[in-house]
Amino acid sequence: RTTRASVIIVGAGISGIAAAKVLAENGVDDVLILEASDRIGGRIRKEQFGGVTVELGAGWIAGVGGKQSNPVWELARESNLKTCFSDYSYARYNIYDRSGKIIPSGIAADSYKKAVDSAIQKLSQEQASTAHDVSLLADLPSAPKTPVELAIDFILHDFEMAEVEPISTYVEFGEREFLVADERGYEHLLYKMAESFLHISEGYILDSRLKLNKVVRELQHSRNGVLVTTEDGCLYEANYVILSVSIGVLQSNLISIRPPLPRWKTEAINKCDIITYTKVFLKFPYKFWPCGPEKEFFIYAHDRRGYYTFWQHMENAFPGSNILVVTLTNEESKRIEAQPDGETMKEAMEVLRNMFGPDIPDAINIIVPRWWNNRFQRGSYSNYPIHVNHQHFNDIKAPVGRVFFTGEHTSEKFNGYVHGAYLSGIDTSKALLDEMRKDKGRKTENTQAF
Ligand code: FAD
Repeated sequence: RTTRASVIIVGAGISGIAAAKVLAENGVDDVLILEASDRIGGRIRKEQFGGVTVELGAGWIAGVGGKQSNPVWELARESNLKTCFSDYSYARYNIYDRSGKIIPSGIAADSYKKAVDSAIQKLSQEQASTAHDVSLLADLPSAPKTPVELAIDFILHDFEMAEVEPISTYVEFGEREFLVADERGYEHLLYKMAESFLHISEGYILDSRLKLNKVVRELQHSRNGVLVTTEDGCLYEANYVILSVSIGVLQSNLISIRPPLPRWKTEAINKCDIITYTKVFLKFPYKFWPCGPEKEFFIYAHDRRGYYTFWQHMENAFPGSNILVVTLTNEESKRIEAQPDGETMKEAMEVLRNMFGPDIPDAINIIVPRWWNNRFQRGSYSNYPIHVNHQHFNDIKAPVGRVFFTGEHTSEKFNGYVHGAYLSGIDTSKALLDEMRKDKGRKTENTQAF
């Protein structure tokens, strides 16, 4: 049996839900949202851990306090979402070496300056040559080499490039960042959005227009419409489809598209890099790390870049929770995803004992999210090479016939962020509404011609 709708949206992350909402507000309410997992939210994902709600995916509302208001910050304010201001700026003065000594602030400041200079040099080299030859860049005279420089370089590159290049999020919305610290989770914003057009009862979406556990595997499209097949063999037909799956999923072979996407489209999709960013949560029987002002973030300087480098305690967000978070990225993320969590806990404990001494207690629980190995994500967020131009983004988001594209990776200014995903959902559905109006106009003209 085939189910029919006007528009099918593949994926119920924030871009898919935002797109559905705009369509509903414009009178297109026979929309079907097909979501592969058993929940909405996608890369916004909360989990109960150690007595509190932690965010395995997006945690911060980034870009607050500027002239223009971040729309996600507005949504959070309307929902009274509890948040907590994060100030990373002093993290560079909380750097521990392998013997647990805090690096003196003078050395930290010098290393910081060197890492920034090296980042600027790298960027100008990357801009000069479109070939992305990392080994060549690593040989720059100012390339970071000592454990402290490597740690700072990691923080700069894998977290905040704001000091090195202008990032639209900070320029347009402001430089402040707020951590979501709400038991309802970041995902509460999606439920708030959904309740304006889907039937929700006691926190559950009970509406046949949202179908969970529906893994889209095939998408056929023609001049007349689209036909979507899910892994469980169900068929869904519509006039249009919006694909909101991540760039990692588009690059994988999860969804087979027939006829295949044109070359300009696949080239644009494949040109985009993906960052894997993993927050590992550790629960302890009691806290042994310094708290108080300017201590929330701390850094471990190791001779391997990115080895359990960036730490945060959760006392500001959830006092008394006794939880630490350590962030790993890319190759280190993939490495720990592939090993048992017990091994990761052992490694993390060794690092913590290096920093805080042998007598600290063992962690009693751990969560290691697996964004890379999740076939519905294949990484954490898009990362466009510096030389990518405006045309590339046009290609990434341009529809192919009746197939429309949305998601954080389609946002030229705010890719990688929740607000980028949210705004892209709105943009894509507006583009689709325009197309639907044109289509209707063409049909009326044809009828009049008879
Ligand atoms: P998604 O949320 O990925 O939605 C796509 C949906 O499609 C998913 O629900 C997926 O299950 C579904 N899907 C995939 N394949 C199929 C299929 N075949 N059939 C049906 N459904 C399918 N942003 C910030 O602003 N601040 C942060 O602090 C921040 N930190 C982050 C930390 C991590 C660890 C991660 C992973 C991301 C972080 N981000 C952050 C980025 C932010 O989470 C994303 O940009 C945003 O949530 C992406 O939304 P989206 O709708 O584009 O995609």
